[in-house]
Amino acid sequence: MALEIKIDRETCMGSGNCVFWAPGVFDLDDDGISVVVEIDAAPKEKIVLAAQGCPTQAIVVLEDGEKIA
Ligand code: SF4
Repeated sequence: MALEIKIDRETCMGSGNCVFWAPGVFDLDDDGISVVVEIDAAPKEKIVLAAQGCPTQAIVVLEDGEKIA
């Protein structure tokens, strides 16, 4: 099972929700935009919650190439 996370940096508004839901996976960079730091730092469920909780829907989660959030 290969998880992949894509963040649209144009769409992210730096709310930090994803960092709240999956700390260690997401962090805000120096520009205040979300980045993936360690994809294995939280279970898949938390990463999906993070994507669903993004107010601008900037996060896409893929599993084996298929969109799951
Ligand atoms: S929840 Fe969405 S808008 Fe907020 S920091 Fe994460 S990616 Fe950006």
